[in-house]
Amino acid sequence: MTQIPFHRPYVARDQLAYVTDAMHRPWTSGYGHYGERAVHLLREVTGAPHIVLTTSGTTAMDLAALAFDPRPGDEVIVPSFTFVATANAFVLRGAVPVFVDSRPDTLNMDEDRIEAAITGRTRAIAVVHYAGVACEMDRIMKIAERHDLAVIEDNAHGLGGTYHGRALGSYGLLAAQSFHATKNIQCGEGGAVLTADAGLAERAEILHDKGTNRRQFFRGQVDMYRWVDLGTAFAPSEILAAQLVAQLESYDLIQSQRRSLWLRYHEELADWAAAQGVARPGVPDGCEHPAHIYYLLLPDLANRQELIAHLRARGIQAIFHYSPLHSSPAGQRFGRTAPGGCPVAESAADRLIRLPLYAGLEDDAQSRVIEAVKTFRVT
Ligand SMILES: *Cc1c(COP(=O)(O)O)cnc(C)c1O
Repeated sequence: MTQIPFHRPYVARDQLAYVTDAMHRPWTSGYGHYGERAVHLLREVTGAPHIVLTTSGTTAMDLAALAFDPRPGDEVIVPSFTFVATANAFVLRGAVPVFVDSRPDTLNMDEDRIEAAITGRTRAIAVVHYAGVACEMDRIMKIAERHDLAVIEDNAHGLGGTYHGRALGSYGLLAAQSFHATKNIQCGEGGAVLTADAGLAERAEILHDKGTNRRQFFRGQVDMYRWVDLGTAFAPSEILAAQLVAQLESYDLIQSQRRSLWLRYHEELADWAAAQGVARPGVPDGCEHPAHIYYLLLPDLANRQELIAHLRARGIQAIFHYSPLHSSPAGQRFGRTAPGGCPVAESAADRLIRLPLYAGLEDDAQSRVIEAVKTFRVT
């Protein structure tokens, strides 16, 4: 029985050729030929005026938080149901993450719970578009405006997604993308920060290059480069950027494959899910998502664990997702939980299972996954 992995990184047509080419160019560090091309291609997908590449989605969040510059003790509202990088970036700046619960349908931060979490110290709302399905951005932007807060997007799942026609990653003052091996577009480890704010973009470029204005020097804007600000080394080498270029050139192909796989799960599991009391992903009107994750919500932890074992016994790897941050050891040490706690995040963490979904997953393999799921009975 051949094993069906949860994920297999897609290798784009020109990926190896570009890596070989990148290795033989005189310039193999950051900001080279492929780095520039990757930024150009990313601009086409996201529409973002300013983009800086990083070595991961985590360092993209770090750079966004560094550029945003909270003061120690400032509070940033974050979902509990997310990856650690969303909160860690602000904790590293001395800020306090305030964990807000999720909506049960999309698992995104519940917009109805944000205002109760705001205090005199709140500076920002960091949103995560779980599975690439947009948060309720109209409401969230209004709340942010009313309380004079910045919005920062952890858009690790949402590259190419839209909310009422507007690209995810374009709502925040700053947004972070991830090109980790498990994401739709991947170069092993990679990321990017997007912004439309020219001042923040200029600062981010300096923070990104060890606190120097070397990029301005290379463009001939200054006659020498110096240490002018804080900073560290965020730039990916040309070897990584070359892979990103090849992936972005195959963007349409990757996305159309993922979309059909996602839709097939959604359609063919509908009757089984209804009969078994299993919830499928909610996609509110106005949300176009990039088919990053296909998940199911079982009635409880025991059934979720049994379904994982049931699939494993049939050679299929399926996984759970996100241990909620509010109750994690570091979340308790560095953060605070919004009034009402995070019961939805806790329940989702127990009940959620992600099915194999990647460009290159063959129809036969997906049929096997679907058939295996359909033979499972909730007890
Ligand atoms: C993948 C991911 C990141 C960052 O991931 P890296 O592995 O560092 O690229 C950040 N936030 C979320 C929600 C993610 O899923």
